[in-house]
Amino acid sequence: MASGPASAEGGARTALPARIISQLREILGPDGVLTRYEDLLVYEYDAYMDRALPEAVIRPTTGQQLAAVVQLAVRERLAITARGGASGLSGGTIPVRGGLVVDLNSMHRILKVDPDNGLALVQPGLINLDLTTAVTPLGLYYAPDPSSQKTSTIGGNIAENSGGPHCLSHGMTTNHIVGLELVTRDGLLCTLGGPAPDAPGYDLVGLAVGSEGTFGVVTQAWVRLLIAPPVTVTFLAAYETIEAAGAAVSALVAAGVVPGALELMDEPSIQALEAAFHVGYPPGAGAILLVDVEGLPEAVEEQEVLVRRICEETPGSMVVQYAGTQAERDKLWAARKGALAACGRVAPNYYLCDGTVPRSKLADVLGTVRQLGIRYGVNVMTVAHIGDGNLHPIIAFDALEEGIIPRVEAAHDELVEACVEAGGTITGEHGVGLEKRKYMPLIFTPHDLEKMALVRDAFNSTGLFNPGKVLPDPGAETAKVAIPIGIGAAIGPDTWV
Ligand SMILES: Cc1cc2nc3c(=O)[nH]c(=O)nc-3n(C[C@H](O)[C@H](O)[C@H](O)COP(=O)(O)OP(=O)(O)OC[C@H]3O[C@@H](n4cnc5c(N)ncnc54)[C@H](O)[C@@H]3O)c2cc1C
Repeated sequence: MASGPASAEGGARTALPARIISQLREILGPDGVLTRYEDLLVYEYDAYMDRALPEAVIRPTTGQQLAAVVQLAVRERLAITARGGASGLSGGTIPVRGGLVVDLNSMHRILKVDPDNGLALVQPGLINLDLTTAVTPLGLYYAPDPSSQKTSTIGGNIAENSGGPHCLSHGMTTNHIVGLELVTRDGLLCTLGGPAPDAPGYDLVGLAVGSEGTFGVVTQAWVRLLIAPPVTVTFLAAYETIEAAGAAVSALVAAGVVPGALELMDEPSIQALEAAFHVGYPPGAGAILLVDVEGLPEAVEEQEVLVRRICEETPGSMVVQYAGTQAERDKLWAARKGALAACGRVAPNYYLCDGTVPRSKLADVLGTVRQLGIRYGVNVMTVAHIGDGNLHPIIAFDALEEGIIPRVEAAHDELVEACVEAGGTITGEHGVGLEKRKYMPLIFTPHDLEKMALVRDAFNSTGLFNPGKVLPDPGAETAKVAIPIGIGAAIGPDTWV
């Protein structure tokens, strides 16, 4: 259940003593602290299904302010949960033990761009896409591109070690962060790494990226910027079966092709997209691949020939289309990016899953996914960052149907188990958060989990940073929402996974 009492009638909350609220206001100013019930309600959920109310929300504008708040929180034993764009799909921002939610959206500035060294210093609340937009005139871009890049923040991406289509060739967020400033358990600002290459000692930046807010709150980050590829071409390759598409992916990888992006849509998603957007996909296609090839003109020319040949020669190939202009590319990608919107026609609610399997096991696991859909009476359509073996089955359902949520959750449990049995893992890029902590024992021994807790506690000995996340924690329960977040019908065509 949601922790901490709340005034159901609305008005100011009384759970947090007035003296603490006034100390918070001294540090942050009157607009920097929210305590009214109706304001707190907005902060009780993210893009996952659970909810819990914070006792107050704070909105710092500087790292120093946040450091002072953490000192106060440590004295008063208040939990601290960071929140960026709240697009997290594993419940990372849900304050299961109440306390303070830190809204970082006011800290969204680019502090420095250093094109000579391909670096930028940014605040954590900066929206991912705003970074690329700002440096595009310099011929640069920020490579990690989660599908939520229009709403998710660099701080959230760091905490989740987020991925995206272009992480296949360029690596996940961890490969693009060279330095961090974070507020630690003592309420001190601590710097890890920095713009100078190859800092000696332990790779604490690498350790902090992906720690899901349990090590401290990131207040600044040095990020890598890459030179935008001068040429990109996109292929759409349709196959009779998912197995044939899988074979094409394996053949591409075996031939040494490292596409900029390599995405897959299965038959149910193709049908949903066709019904919603009349994309003109080849009728009867069992699977579709989208392949981006990017780089210098000569290299792209060479790879183009190879990709086309492999895609066409794979048995089961139906048609291979090619898009060389930006407009043609946008058209092919727009369809892929419309999967969530198309899902809204299938059912009013969805559960967006995230698991990873070895590419060779893709067809087997997708077969299991289809069986699960039939057995639990839900529609499942799958899109995948297939180059990484990262699957996103989307379970479509109607939350008003009695008893449906436990069935959806049971289907999800079996899906995660199928990924693990196939030699994969429990999350590709959405993190563990609340959602997947119960699955951690599927891939880690009690000894492994104990060691992870020791590492966490070295940063977070007070246990106040994002408690109840990542590691199994039976004490930290949350309320299930009656209507899950992620109403398919309300999703626009530019929201995609
Ligand atoms: C439609 C959709 C598509 C998505 N597609 C992808 C995808 O392609 N790839 C992918 O990886 N994810 C994807 N996601 C999941 C989500 O967008 C990512 O996990 C993203 O990185 C979360 O960023 P955020 O700013 O929204 O973080 P939030 O949801 O606000 O927070 C996520 C976690 O980060 C912590 N956190 C936030 N800011 C900080 C900080 N400054 N310091 C320390 N901890 C912090 C929070 O406490 C929480 O644990 C998608 C989500 C949606 C809704």
